Amino acid sequence: MNIHEYQGKDLLRQYGVPVPNGKVAFTVDEAVKAAESLDSKVKVVKAQIHAGGRGKAGGVKLAKSLDEVRTYAEELLGKTLVTHQTGPEGKEVKRLLIEEGSDIKSEYYIGLVLDRDSSRIVMMGSEEGGTEIEEVAAKTPEKIFKETIDPAIGLLPFQAKRLAFNINIPTELVNKAAKFMIGLYNVFIEKDCSIAEINPLVTTGDGQVIALDAKLNFDDNALYRHPEILELRDLAEEDEKEIEASKYDLNYTALDGNIGMMVNGAGLAMATMDIIKFYGGEPANFLDVGGGATAEKVTAAFKIILSDPNVKGIVVNIFGGIMKCDDIATGVIQATKEVGLEIPLVVRLEGTNVELGKKLLNESGLNITAAESMADAAQKIVSLVK
Ligand code: ADP
Ligand code: MG
Repeated sequence: MNIHEYQGKDLLRQYGVPVPNGKVAFTVDEAVKAAESLDSKVKVVKAQIHAGGRGKAGGVKLAKSLDEVRTYAEELLGKTLVTHQTGPEGKEVKRLLIEEGSDIKSEYYIGLVLDRDSSRIVMMGSEEGGTEIEEVAAKTPEKIFKETIDPAIGLLPFQAKRLAFNINIPTELVNKAAKFMIGLYNVFIEKDCSIAEINPLVTTGDGQVIALDAKLNFDDNALYRHPEILELRDLAEEDEKEIEASKYDLNYTALDGNIGMMVNGAGLAMATMDIIKFYGGEPANFLDVGGGATAEKVTAAFKIILSDPNVKGIVVNIFGGIMKCDDIATGVIQATKEVGLEIPLVVRLEGTNVELGKKLLNESGLNITAAESMADAAQKIVSLVK
């Protein structure tokens, strides 16, 4: 789960990580009022969306007066911001962060992620802050430094200092930077983050080390331990289909292609995506209805797939182990009765009650193409959507 920058900064503040003073605003008047309460000469008006790259896209504005704050707030609120992370459709700005402008000396990058190779949390740092870290990694990988953290003892002060030295934080600020890093690590661990990224962390003219941006991402499987984090969820930022899917406990992720998929089991779903791609198609989603899906769940899943206007055909690939093929068939028939089906549907069923499942589908009067194997199903749906 993602949260907004201002929410991330509130959390960082609680852990002693320095961030600029600032307030969230939902309206232009709130923005001006927030700016009035800030001390600095320059105030920054920042679009709050769950995507980075706002600076380059015009979503971060420096205002030198309250009038300018008003002008920028009017301009940004309600605007659809397109950044390289939002996709071409962009995201509508509904909230702003109004914060004190910092006197930036240098910008750095600090990030915490789980490194799956070493099964450890890794803190990464670079002196190339403010730019895309992916670009730094591709062009100048020698400018990224890493510290691998032992889970039993946590991030040690000497590691934090070493990282600060490596990324060329001025010597007199290394201790402050190390304290910053340890605070960030504590947030990451205590709140069960999956990503914590500060880009940029800056040093200022008056010798501060401060986070100007904050991207925190939380492990969904740990959210039950953090009701205070769950409260920060902003459903307006999430894909409607994914929200609907989470209500039914379906593992659904929207993708860019045009072939809707309904599969049981994450492994089979991945294999189905692979085989669709192998035959030249593009999946519109990843959808694992789970091992013990009921007809009701299948109905919900089918409706979610059909609500995606990009979907030009659907493939159902089910192995009935715990799940029964007739339940799948019932769900498919139920859903198509409720929402209609005007696009090709290819079904491949195998396993428990497969004959009964096939019989139900055959007698349903639906226009269904039966497939005998995964490869057969993939080839059929790919040629039907072309
Ligand atoms: P994004 O990563 O979405 O582009 P950032 O929050 O990183 O957004 O802001 C982009 C740039 O704007 C920063 O790299 C920094 O140069 C500048 N900036 C952001 N916040 C402030 C601030 N409070 N004071 C001064 N400059 C800022
Ligand atoms: Mg940033």
